Amino acid sequence: MKLINEILEYTKTHDLYPDIRVVDAVPYPNLVIDGKEYLCFCSNNYLGLSIHPAVKKAAMEGIQKYGIGTCESRFIAGNIRVLEELEQELAKFKGRDASLTFATGFLTNLGVIPAIMDNPDPFGIYDIPMPINDEDNLIISDFLNHQSIREGCRISRAQVKNYIHKDMNHLEKILKRYKDKRKLIITDGVFSMDGDIAPLADIIRLARTYDAMVMVDDAHGTGVLGKNGKGTAEYLGLEGQVDIEMGTLSKAIGAIGGFVAGSENLIKYLKLRSSSFIYTSAIPPEQACGILAALKLIQAEPFLRENLWRNVHRLKTGLASLGFNIVNSETQIIPIIIGSEQKCVDASRYLFENGILAPAIKYPVVKKNESRIRLTTIATHTEEQIDKALDIFSTMGKKFSIT
Ligand code: PMP
Repeated sequence: MKLINEILEYTKTHDLYPDIRVVDAVPYPNLVIDGKEYLCFCSNNYLGLSIHPAVKKAAMEGIQKYGIGTCESRFIAGNIRVLEELEQELAKFKGRDASLTFATGFLTNLGVIPAIMDNPDPFGIYDIPMPINDEDNLIISDFLNHQSIREGCRISRAQVKNYIHKDMNHLEKILKRYKDKRKLIITDGVFSMDGDIAPLADIIRLARTYDAMVMVDDAHGTGVLGKNGKGTAEYLGLEGQVDIEMGTLSKAIGAIGGFVAGSENLIKYLKLRSSSFIYTSAIPPEQACGILAALKLIQAEPFLRENLWRNVHRLKTGLASLGFNIVNSETQIIPIIIGSEQKCVDASRYLFENGILAPAIKYPVVKKNESRIRLTTIATHTEEQIDKALDIFSTMGKKFSIT
């Protein structure tokens, strides 16, 4: 324990330990902390669906029907019918043949990437020729991809090369150099810290040229991007062209869980090989029921997305006119780049003192000297709330010499 104690002491004396606040109530877009209401500008509950009456009702009915857990892997006795229904609906929503759900988005990436890129026959069961060596598999991953992708790559034992964020020349160079390997290109659809969108058309074109598979983590695009909220591929006119479409249910869908959508064979294969599908429990039943209701709302109530994009526009234009650097955000994730880590922590605390919840994001989540306040706006923010927040951001900008 000595080293652990020393590290903790260091984080304390250097003010590096994160502020982990306890939330007592969730009247989105506000949150109640220690009896005070804060205006939340950091939630991924992009459409406000986690507290939508129809979603809550469906979840409560789910509890009445199934109780609160499946208490088993789906392989044993936990494959309750609502999970199968959910997977059919998710596949339909994404316009794909089939889908598979996992307990969280993080577990989805931990399960899917190794299943695709590891030795496919570790126990020597199949009497068919295959590339058995781990070095034969190469994952090519955008440098700014989410941590769950990095961890999934690490577990897979495949060789991993990171390409410079969205740099297609660099991606092509790697594809050319390793043309004889079995290759998977992975990218976030919407990048979780900068809010920009992957150049998916170019990635798919290069993948076709160099015979690579493409996987997109659309955690932040699902439910938000595209005319019908189907995500980044729909938004860019590339529906059905991504081999492995991953998404989370913990953001615009308002619940918990992750999923993959794609071809019938992809999903069948994942059931056979994905550890975080086989060796753990599934999404709880009431969540699955609530998610089904949320999926219906996403498709039936496009005004939710219209509200969201109106808010994105208002917040972004306001921040830009105040002189903040919001880099290349194209979505509801809008970073205010501050740079210095201490200044960023101080600015976030100032916001908190003034009734706004927006966290400081620092190294190692983002690069050194790229510390930022990561803002998100959601569909249920009102114009008045955004304007009030902009007033407070304006004073923060001057007080901490950010603008
Ligand atoms: N992928 C991305 C891009 C994410 O931003 C996140 C969560 N922040 C995840 C995966 C993990 O999703 P979950 O929270 O549903 O486990």
